[in-house]
Amino acid sequence: MTTLFVFITGGVVSSLGKGLASAALGAALQARGYKVRLRKLDPYLNIDPGTMSPYQHGEVYVTSDGAETDLDLGHYERFTGVNSRRSDNITSGQIYQSVIAKERRGDYLGATVQVIPHVTDEIKRFIMSGTEDADFALIEIGGTVGDIESLPFLEAIRQLGYELGRDRTLFIHVTLVPRISVAGELKTKPTQHSVKELRSIGIQPDILLCRCTEPLPEGVRRKIALFCNVREEDVIAAPDAASLYEVPLTYHQEGLDSQVLKIFRLDARPPNLNRWETIVERVHAPEGRVSIAIVGKYTELRDAYISLGEALVHGGIANRVSVDLKWLDAEIFERPDTIHHLDGVDGILVPGGFGERGTRGKITAAQFAREHKVPYFGICFGMQMAVLEAARNLAKIDGASSSEFGPCKVPVVGLLTEWMRGNEIVVRSGSDPLGGTMRLGNYECRLKPDSLAHSIYGVDTIVERHRHRYEVNINLKEQLEEVGVVFSGMSPDNMLPEIIERADHPWFVGVQFHPELRSRPFEPHPLFQSFIKAAFAQSRLV
Ligand code: GLN
Repeated sequence: MTTLFVFITGGVVSSLGKGLASAALGAALQARGYKVRLRKLDPYLNIDPGTMSPYQHGEVYVTSDGAETDLDLGHYERFTGVNSRRSDNITSGQIYQSVIAKERRGDYLGATVQVIPHVTDEIKRFIMSGTEDADFALIEIGGTVGDIESLPFLEAIRQLGYELGRDRTLFIHVTLVPRISVAGELKTKPTQHSVKELRSIGIQPDILLCRCTEPLPEGVRRKIALFCNVREEDVIAAPDAASLYEVPLTYHQEGLDSQVLKIFRLDARPPNLNRWETIVERVHAPEGRVSIAIVGKYTELRDAYISLGEALVHGGIANRVSVDLKWLDAEIFERPDTIHHLDGVDGILVPGGFGERGTRGKITAAQFAREHKVPYFGICFGMQMAVLEAARNLAKIDGASSSEFGPCKVPVVGLLTEWMRGNEIVVRSGSDPLGGTMRLGNYECRLKPDSLAHSIYGVDTIVERHRHRYEVNINLKEQLEEVGVVFSGMSPDNMLPEIIERADHPWFVGVQFHPELRSRPFEPHPLFQSFIKAAFAQSRLV
């Protein structure tokens, strides 16, 4: 079938869960046997979020083909299992870069280069390209309607609506219907205003997805329909869900996917939502519980570790336990008498991170886990910190540090200056620009026979996603092995340590890659499954 385009915009306020709504719609359409591709258009001028602070942007989600993208792509992958590609996250920065490159090449010779049509044409080209394999392309527009920056994107999708026609395009607008407690009423005005704004730029939404904390009474829906020029059945309530993975079921029950099909005049194939029912059942009826301490730097900002939190939940689903996450700022462990914060936790996880701040605290947490035989999972930076801990406290290497923190005597963790990508050598130096120059995306790793890692994966070779600039120094391998560090995963050329573990510990694993990016609720990542299993065993010891 020819690809149909669904555009998802947001209004009233940000953080309405547009990304989640898009992902859930993708999952519901998939449940009816359709192939979907999800895409995010981000209006900011950065080429990608790779150089943005987590405080600005939350997590940077890395695709298998090595793009640093918006965290909504993580939702898309977790809900649909469809791997995103580099081309699935488009920013104004990329659009302008491409338009300006064309202008310099002389492609527009003679023309004055303008937002309309040159920028909008480029946006349309980006939206359409590489969607042929999907029945539905779901295109989410970042930001909120009314933002200056998103105007070229909205204009481009308006044009597409016109060019492709009503048969191939559909507009969903996500809005908010708040309850004003003093008046004791649900308010429709913000939705009316937001739709008015959208219509003033020429987009008439087909479906309104109304975020709300309670069911929408008939009268409220009727009023929204009337004022917004939308059919009543297309005003869909999107109530808060107790668990993320209920969202596909809730939106389905509210009629979102069936209305989409109806508007496109497609026969509604019966959906098979078993996958989601099973997950929700497991989330609601755990047979046990574990508590995991996450010792990181951006712990007050959940969005910074969104895939990580979800992967831990998936590990819980696999083991039928609920996972209590205890977010701890690493810096607390740099103060005296604070280690008691780790008392009674069943597992300790040190996640990815950048920069020196908080690293002494992370190293202390790794040391505590090693000495007290508490399951330890170090991811990327968390692996580097565990190795540094062993180098300093066990191997007693004087001046052991990471060159990420400045020049040091013994770089146990050092800058990656060259590595293999397939058959090609990638070369880097300390003076390279920062954007997009890390070791990114899928790389192969060979597992050591008889290691814990090998028993967890059950295969000899794995492929995982990466995002790092520094690497454990292979020249210190023997010294580290002498103090119990097992190098259980290596790059195919044997130069880059990818997994370390400890044989004298029930579960101590550090990985240079980001397994959390590949975990799905219906296919929990083996490392998270195993970590939660070990934590559950630990919980029954104490
Ligand atoms: N800062 C470390 C590096 O660049 C770790 C990166 C990470 O945790 N993603 O190697």
